[in-house]
Amino acid sequence: MAEPKTPRRGASTQAVHAGEQRSKPTDAITTPISQTSTYTFANTQELRDHFEHRIEREEYGRYGNPTQRVAEKKLAALDNAEDGLMFASGMAAITTTLFAILSRGAHVVVTDDAYRRTRQFLNQTLGRFGVDVSTVPAGDYDRIEEAIRPNTRLIFSESPTNPYNRVLDLEKLVEIAQRRRVKTVIDSTFATPINQRPIDFGIDLVIHSATKYLGGHNDLLAGAVVGSAPLIGGIRDLQAITGAVPDPFAAYLLIRGLKTLALRVSRQNENAERLAAFLDTHPKVGTVHYPSLSSHPEHEIAKSQMKGYGGVVSFEVAGDIDATSRLVDACQIPRIAPSLGGVESLIEQPALMSFYELTTEERLQVGIKENLVRYSVGVEDADDLIADLEQALEQV
Ligand SMILES: *Cc1c(COP(=O)(O)O)cnc(C)c1O
Repeated sequence: MAEPKTPRRGASTQAVHAGEQRSKPTDAITTPISQTSTYTFANTQELRDHFEHRIEREEYGRYGNPTQRVAEKKLAALDNAEDGLMFASGMAAITTTLFAILSRGAHVVVTDDAYRRTRQFLNQTLGRFGVDVSTVPAGDYDRIEEAIRPNTRLIFSESPTNPYNRVLDLEKLVEIAQRRRVKTVIDSTFATPINQRPIDFGIDLVIHSATKYLGGHNDLLAGAVVGSAPLIGGIRDLQAITGAVPDPFAAYLLIRGLKTLALRVSRQNENAERLAAFLDTHPKVGTVHYPSLSSHPEHEIAKSQMKGYGGVVSFEVAGDIDATSRLVDACQIPRIAPSLGGVESLIEQPALMSFYELTTEERLQVGIKENLVRYSVGVEDADDLIADLEQALEQV
């Protein structure tokens, strides 16, 4: 059904209303969960009409679901993209997107401070299929450009990155990529569409782990990719084959979570900024990796490119791996867990969470310091989070 043209609205209005039909089945205000694996045809004529594109309707669960479709339209609207596609997880979005774009003999440039599983998929899995990968330091645009070869198909990066919150100059990245005719993909999980919209800078595809801020309640796994209709169409065709589709209930939870996205993220921005300022002057804390701080290498870029600095604060404890663990264990509000972006604050020591099986040397090789703490700030009261950190730091 064609929807009437509406003026471009603010992120909060989009988060609540975008993608949803005004009139829904049973006059319910919420989008129903279409908990079905398949869709029925009245007769063979309807089947023929469907396959000859005379009517628009669903066919089978792997090819689409109305609840999923609403989530996708909402996500596309929030990122100012033409179309969006939802997946069973963030990694499903990343792997299907890369499989859709790359072929044997292709080359990819990826920045070094990126989600570990993304780097593993590129280097190990796609390596087995004859894809070449160059890893370059995030923020070094000369190295990024030097790495581009005639067979380079895309540049893949995060911004901000995990766990050091490095911020890429998207304008500069797009300038290089367009001049060299290379596509750009940004994993924008840390920023969310509230803090940054890479599509507005000319980035081709934006990926999110919707498990994090977009869902926002630590209760679902999902992923998304948004971009131009032709690019998303190609990825959708591959998803229909590879099958990493979300469950309709996860799509419903994502829609529900997205309604409060702007509220949650602005609170998390505020909380994180206060936590970073507190940590920055604490004698038992070394470097604080947060873009609001003037000591952050891309503070100026973040200030002009982002509406908020995000909800993850990474910092180095003035002590060894065990002193750092004592701080983590002494915190009484954040829970020790992987993941980030939910309403509950989470804390972890990356060396002992995502990088546990590595040796000290291997960790340093991939840039993971053992005294590093990643704090994903929730929507609690900043005063409480700071008081809690203050007492925990006494244990260092
Ligand atoms: C969590 C995360 C992913 C992977 O998403 P899943 O939903 O866990 O599969 C990818 N990129 C970033 C930046 C993440 O934080």
